[in-house]
Amino acid sequence: MNSEIINALKNAKMTTYCLDEDQIISQSEWIERAYTKCKSLAVFFNTKFYILHNDTFNGAAFYKPKFIALNFGVFDLSQKMAHIITNYLVHDITPNIKPNKNPNRKAYYDIFFSLPNMVDANKKTIKENSLANNYYEQIASIFTLFTMFHELGHINHNHGARNINHFCDGFDSSTSSLSSENALDSQTREVICDLYAFECLVKSHVLPMKKELSYNKEEFIKYLTDHLTFISLYFYFLSPNLNNDGYKHASHPPTAFRIFSIYKYFQSDETINISKIEKELIISSSSENLRKILINIFSDSASNNWHTWFTDSELAAWHNEIYNRTPNWYLFEK
Ligand SMILES: [Zn+2]
Repeated sequence: MNSEIINALKNAKMTTYCLDEDQIISQSEWIERAYTKCKSLAVFFNTKFYILHNDTFNGAAFYKPKFIALNFGVFDLSQKMAHIITNYLVHDITPNIKPNKNPNRKAYYDIFFSLPNMVDANKKTIKENSLANNYYEQIASIFTLFTMFHELGHINHNHGARNINHFCDGFDSSTSSLSSENALDSQTREVICDLYAFECLVKSHVLPMKKELSYNKEEFIKYLTDHLTFISLYFYFLSPNLNNDGYKHASHPPTAFRIFSIYKYFQSDETINISKIEKELIISSSSENLRKILINIFSDSASNNWHTWFTDSELAAWHNEIYNRTPNWYLFEK
């Protein structure tokens, strides 16, 4: 790692200690595969790629010099989350998580991050059951690849070239205090990259699955419902708080907004080629599945109503603002 990269990481307040490839791939067979996939994507997009020695779920795209940095936690926590959710869906096993006392804080957060390094992908409950294996793969892949594709979206759209002071697009919004105009611009970039990541996952996972299940539409609808449930879950886990005060000055949209824009995009998508009614059904079932997971696994009582903290008109007004700004940040010529 050269000094330019070390300085860029320091300026973004990220750790500067990178893991060696050997340290990464020795962690588990799944991490080796996920890392190899991300590395090949970085090569394809002609960008450098580093894994930082940090356990949290975080990453960033840098423009000068051009590189993507993911924390090791992206891989590790994706794997743990896949393990927990799979055990619940297939074996009805739930971890012992105490009910959430703080209504603004998501119940999973502390437990999730303090899980011991025990989640063993080779555990019998998952390895010897093909349904469990499929869920595990689907969840862990969505959590890791959505992150990677999102960061590649920033690079691909050359977001850094718009502003000389804008050297990086980070992952978390917790410390932001932007003017409302700058916040809307930043949130527009984030939404574009979310939709880009969604589109990449459709190409890499959903369309091949459609081909594979061409004889069984019901199975495919179920797969899509799961896919949307796990993407919603991913967004739910991105930040520690449910308290969305101040989103008008934050660099990243609140969870409910990000899920809303994915749903909107899914409704208008023409590549998956299913009916409007089927899409509606998939969206409502995946919302319900998300609620069940948050209640049953994470005892998160706030999950019953968190997505209604914003009114429909607030969501529509925000979406309109973002939509109007989209041409400024979309498909910028390299
Ligand atoms: Zn971003």
